[in-house]
Amino acid sequence: MKNSEIDWSTLGFGYVPTDYNVRCYYRDGKWGEIEISSSETIEMHIAATALHYGQEIFEGLKAFRGKDGKVRVFRPEENARRIRESARGIKMAEIPEELFIKMVKLVIKLNERFIPPYGSGASLYIRPLEIGMTAQVGVKPAKEYCFIILVSPVGPYFKAGFKPTNICIMRDYDRVAPKGTGRWKVGGNYAASLSAGEHAHELGYSAVLYLDPKEKKYLDECGPANFYAIKGNTYITPASDSILPSITNMSLMDLARDFGMTVEQRHIPVEEIPTFDEAAACGTAAVCSPVGEIHDLDSGEKFVIAKDGKPGPVTTRFYNTLSAIRLGEIEDTHGWNMILDL
Ligand SMILES: *Cc1c(COP(=O)(O)O)cnc(C)c1O
Repeated sequence: MKNSEIDWSTLGFGYVPTDYNVRCYYRDGKWGEIEISSSETIEMHIAATALHYGQEIFEGLKAFRGKDGKVRVFRPEENARRIRESARGIKMAEIPEELFIKMVKLVIKLNERFIPPYGSGASLYIRPLEIGMTAQVGVKPAKEYCFIILVSPVGPYFKAGFKPTNICIMRDYDRVAPKGTGRWKVGGNYAASLSAGEHAHELGYSAVLYLDPKEKKYLDECGPANFYAIKGNTYITPASDSILPSITNMSLMDLARDFGMTVEQRHIPVEEIPTFDEAAACGTAAVCSPVGEIHDLDSGEKFVIAKDGKPGPVTTRFYNTLSAIRLGEIEDTHGWNMILDL
C-alpha cells in the first residue's frame, strides 16, 4: 500500500497496520537497545504479570503534517513524564525521557508514508505501551518489561462536524477508587469503565460524566477525557486525585490565560451544573468535544448547556487555536510542538 492508496477521508479511529513498530526491553535492571520490528505480535510468557495482574500502562499522542510540510508532535515530553509517573504508580520500570523521545521520532520516521497529508484532517496516532513480562504467579512487580510504540493513521474526530453531544451521570458505577489508580494511565482503569461506557452508549450518550468516587458530590472526568466548564470569563476544571492529568486540559488552561480568562482548578459540585455557559470533554483524540446536555439519570434532571444546540464561542476558539498550533498554521508561542524535518 502506497501513501496515495490510503483514503484519508474515510479513516476512523481504529487500528490500521503500518510498516514498523519499535520495542525496547528492560532486563537485569536496565533498558536494552531499541529494536525495529515489522511484526504485529509479541511473544510473551503465559505467566507474565501484564496478563495476570494488569501491569500495563500506555500513552496516546499525535503527529501532524503541517502547512509547511514539516511533521509536528504535540508535547511528547509531557507524555514521557506521564508514563514515568504511571510506571512509578504501579511499580514498573521507568522509561527515561530520552529513550521515549528517541523511539517516538524513530517510529514516525519509519512509518512516514502513513502520516496523513496537511489538509486531510487526519493524523498519525502514536501509542506507546509498557507491559510486565516476568513469569510469576505470586503477586509482585515484574523484573522484566517491554516498551513498545506502535502508530496508526486516524481520521478527523468530528466526521459529522464539530457538534455538541449529550453525556450522563450514573451513580451506580465508578471508574476508579478514591486514592486508586485514576491519576495514572493504566489499562485496568479502562477495563473498569467499559461496563458504564457501554451502558451509556446504549442509552444514546457519548460518555459518562463520572463523579468523585468517594463522596459522589463533585464532577470528576468524562469517560476517557477530562472535563471543563466555562462560566463567564472563567475556565473551571476539576481538581481531583482520581482523574488523569490531561495534557490537552493543561494546554487549554494556558490558552484560557492567553485569552485573558481566569482559570480555576477546584472541586465542582453537581449543583453547579446549571450555572455553566459551556462544557466540554477534552483529550488528544478530539481536542474539545462540546457538551450539549447533561442528564442526571438518578434524579431525572436534564441540564441543557448548549442552549442553541451549537458549540459555545470559547470551546470553538480553543478547538480552532489548538488545531492551528498543531498544524503550524499559527505561532506556537508556548513551544509545544516537537518539529521533525522528515
Ligand atoms: C488519556 C486520558 C485523558 C486525556 O489526556 P490527554 O493527555 O489530553 O490526551 C483523560 N482521561 C483519561 C482517563 C485518559 O486516559
